[in-house]
Amino acid sequence: MRKVSFPYMGTSYIPFEKVLMKFGNEVIVPPKPTMETISFGTKYAPEFACYPFKIVLGTYVQVLEAGADTLVSSGGVGPCRAGLYTTLQEKILKSHGYEFEMITMEPPGRHLRDLIKNVKKLINAKVSFADCIKIGRFAWKELVLLDKAEKLSHKIRPLEVKRGEASRAYKKSIELIADAEKYSDLLEIEREIENLYEKIPKKDMEPIKIGIVGEIYVLLEPSSNLEIEEMLGELGVYVERSMFLSEYVISNALLDLFHIKGDRDAKKMASPYFNEMCGGHGRESVGNAVIYAKRGFDGIIQLSPFTCIPEIVAKSILPKVCEERNMGFMAISLDEQTGKEGLRTRLEAFVDLLYFKKKRRQQLTNNSQLARGLA
Ligand code: SF4
Repeated sequence: MRKVSFPYMGTSYIPFEKVLMKFGNEVIVPPKPTMETISFGTKYAPEFACYPFKIVLGTYVQVLEAGADTLVSSGGVGPCRAGLYTTLQEKILKSHGYEFEMITMEPPGRHLRDLIKNVKKLINAKVSFADCIKIGRFAWKELVLLDKAEKLSHKIRPLEVKRGEASRAYKKSIELIADAEKYSDLLEIEREIENLYEKIPKKDMEPIKIGIVGEIYVLLEPSSNLEIEEMLGELGVYVERSMFLSEYVISNALLDLFHIKGDRDAKKMASPYFNEMCGGHGRESVGNAVIYAKRGFDGIIQLSPFTCIPEIVAKSILPKVCEERNMGFMAISLDEQTGKEGLRTRLEAFVDLLYFKKKRRQQLTNNSQLARGLA
């Protein structure tokens, strides 16, 4: 029996584990990245490698030490380094004596045959086509529900009367989803999750709104971004992240398969500033900032791994986008040296500034209304 593992990214390990188990594999669930993971990654990775590369490499070391003999990873296309990630990681790990098979899932639009061949390698039990559809449907619903629970936590956290209630509801939601065994369980759990958040006593206020844009791994894995969304929520900020895994799968796998361009809105919105493909999600970061401005957000935070080329390009454009649209802008570069307390201090200052700007805007509007009334 294959002993399969994969990179840790947010809560995606929940559906991935179940799919791989139902396909007849033993699954070594990757541990949540810690300082130990990062230290393995930085020890074996080239110094210039981007932060997600180091975290994923460190995770691979941990799961190989725990007995994994197969690693499943995603591939990539485009001009940034992501497409070479797995090849390089495989070489590094094998040069240190680890024996395993690396299975890379490439985007289906360009590598459909390879993708099917690789999926077949992971099917090691007797499963019919109908079983595969059932397994896929269940996993998809889990993924969508995990994203929904997280979005609700972003919405409720700034309004909670008692600190920590939204985080507790989110934790409970993850446990419920992870324990589900069949599709009908998930339908009940969905209602239960909505109730959990509804029951939380809330303040009657309009929070500051911040859109978070940036590179996929640091957006989706809280340990890599030092739980920034939770910190902002506790500062009374409604955070909206530009990317969730279920939406990413639709735009980068399903639409790609039929050669329909995903993230069309973001790319279209970026076009007056940035019309070239630069890899990663640099162009989407710019486009999403424009979308957030149109929706009345107060500020943008860009999360990027240190040395991430697409986000460096986006960072040179985003201040102009935000200035033109009267939004605050803050760029956060993340690597193994970034500390949580330093980040909290920067966030507090940024949020204070946004509150001040918002209050001033409201005062100016009130004054002009008053002046119009007197005239
Ligand atoms: S998008 Fe950035 S972090 Fe991701 S592989 Fe490319 S350069 Fe590295």
